[in-house]
Amino acid sequence: MQRNEARRKVEQLRRTIREHNRRYYVDNAATISDGEFDGLMAELAALEERFPQLDDPESPTHRVGGEPLAAFRTVAHSRPMLSLQNTYSAEEVRRFDERTRRLLGEEGPLAYVVELKIDGIAVALRYERGHFALGLTRGDGTQGDDVTANLRTIRSLPLVLSAEAAPIPERVELRAEVYFPRAAFAALNARRREAGLGLFANPRNAAAGTLKLLDPRLATERHLALFAYQLLDAPELGIENHGAALERMRAWGLPVNPHVRRAAGIDEAMALCEQWESRRRDLPYDTDGLVLKLARLTWHASLGATSKVPRWGIAYKFETDRAQTRILRVDWQVGRTGAVTPVAVLEPVQILGTTVKRATLHNADEIARLDARLGDRVTIEKGGEIIPKVVEVHREARTGEQRPLGPPQRCPVCSERLEREAGAVAIRCVNEHCPAQLKRRILHFASRGGLEIEGLGAALVEQLVDHGMVHDVADLFALTTEELARLERMGPRSAANLRAALEASRRPSLARYLHALGIRHVGARAARLLAEAYPLLHDLAAADPEALASLPEIGPTIAASVHRYFARPESRQLLARLEQAGIIPRPIAKTAEPSSLAGLTFVLTGTLPNWSREEAGQHIIARGGRVAATLSGKTNYLIAGENPGSKLAKAEAAGIPVLDETGLRDLLSRGPSGD
Ligand SMILES: [Zn+2]
Repeated sequence: MQRNEARRKVEQLRRTIREHNRRYYVDNAATISDGEFDGLMAELAALEERFPQLDDPESPTHRVGGEPLAAFRTVAHSRPMLSLQNTYSAEEVRRFDERTRRLLGEEGPLAYVVELKIDGIAVALRYERGHFALGLTRGDGTQGDDVTANLRTIRSLPLVLSAEAAPIPERVELRAEVYFPRAAFAALNARRREAGLGLFANPRNAAAGTLKLLDPRLATERHLALFAYQLLDAPELGIENHGAALERMRAWGLPVNPHVRRAAGIDEAMALCEQWESRRRDLPYDTDGLVLKLARLTWHASLGATSKVPRWGIAYKFETDRAQTRILRVDWQVGRTGAVTPVAVLEPVQILGTTVKRATLHNADEIARLDARLGDRVTIEKGGEIIPKVVEVHREARTGEQRPLGPPQRCPVCSERLEREAGAVAIRCVNEHCPAQLKRRILHFASRGGLEIEGLGAALVEQLVDHGMVHDVADLFALTTEELARLERMGPRSAANLRAALEASRRPSLARYLHALGIRHVGARAARLLAEAYPLLHDLAAADPEALASLPEIGPTIAASVHRYFARPESRQLLARLEQAGIIPRPIAKTAEPSSLAGLTFVLTGTLPNWSREEAGQHIIARGGRVAATLSGKTNYLIAGENPGSKLAKAEAAGIPVLDETGLRDLLSRGPSGD
């Protein structure tokens, strides 16, 4: 091949490749397969190697140029790089809108451009005569690190802007968000796991880590991506609104997020925010909110910025049920069935408006799977459960001071050896008389889901067991007012009240009674189903496991557990003693269908007058409903108490029915149809 012919071919290939890059990254509409694209790249690379004089640093084959750096150069930003004010509160966004209208002296609604807030790393980019010249991190906002070499490895970042649709000024400055697509992030961590390297906690951390790599050759394997979101000096180019500025960048071949929308006013903008709260999970990258920017750029200019934040926009962040914190200590707790479970004691952290200090680690296997250690930085999730859980350990944040967490060999309360059943994950204290188990059993027996014995709290149960006054739940009913009055923090009056509460609890419904007994695998719902099928306790006790397992929703596990419970001599003795003490369960009256809330999703917020949120949640679950932590398109009801926070406003805006505790109680007793 002659040199001239080669030159023509090389130029044509570079144009074709740039065009395909653009279709792929900017228009989201690839017209050739990845294999065909790789073929074009290989052809170009081969020609460049054969004709070195045709080489060009901006060729698509040269995403990586130069040697590893010793350190990053610090460069001043041409304009301060501020981040927008952000909030979790829809009300605050509306206040921002009101304030801004006042400042601008506008009577009518303000138009906004609403963009997804990509959870990545903001960078400043500069193009000179259409060529990518400089890329800086935010740094302290005044100056940032020169990460040009790493940015060049991002395939969606054009090294040369396209002048086809719009002329390119001498110098273009813009802001963009560099992010890790979820799939690329998962692949990166998989490779690192295989290589025995520390894992990145989340795509954002991985993006930050990649931009700070001193060797750009490593960055090129990571497949970062980016979206341009702000064009500086747009008014100087005759562009009057932010949406048009985004379009201009797209015309130059810069990737702009396709989900940008214009909103005619704050109501429309907030409606978009609501939509994304659930839709965002379907995106192939992480987002942590939406950004509302005033559409008209003249407004940007007249509003300017405070010393910290621009006045022309606000970020509305999604509520998240996760947070990062540190494990200070692990407590091994003995449950009422003897299971010994690890609970992480945490550096206090706020999630959804509450302070979280403890999170469950479930069991020793889970600790091993997570490789959780004392002092580890962890992500915890509140979810719909009662106790938040540790979902992730940030091994990359280890300092060397973290210490492994072995399961204890002996019960932390009674010092008996712990056992592990074959095939089970829990370790168990099998001492029938373990005080920790007894205390838990009594508390469960007296709880609101059980016999609802008012005044029998944890401090009292401690004393009753520690003083040897109670050895099983039947002993509770033999306690005299005089005995109770001698206990700490108990006067004659509280003793009399407790005595009366014990008397009042002698006729529980069979459903409550079964639940109170604490039979393994029998929660409130199963207890109710069993009580409906067997109105008399004696019939249930005599039922064989096959008959039990044939009941709706009662599987073989529950059936076997119930059968085993009633077959044990210890249980039969206890039931006989309870009967002697005058505890006679009564058959239940059907109030509502047990699964009257099946298929419905509830979110709870604020403080309810009588129930804790957990209790309310248990009642919902017992009726077959579901409890979620955050509002979404699937939420059917918001249950709101005192100080409901931003969820109430969001639910109202989204038209989700809101109930107070009374409304919830009605729903629980009647079912949603109202009959
Ligand atoms: Zn024990």
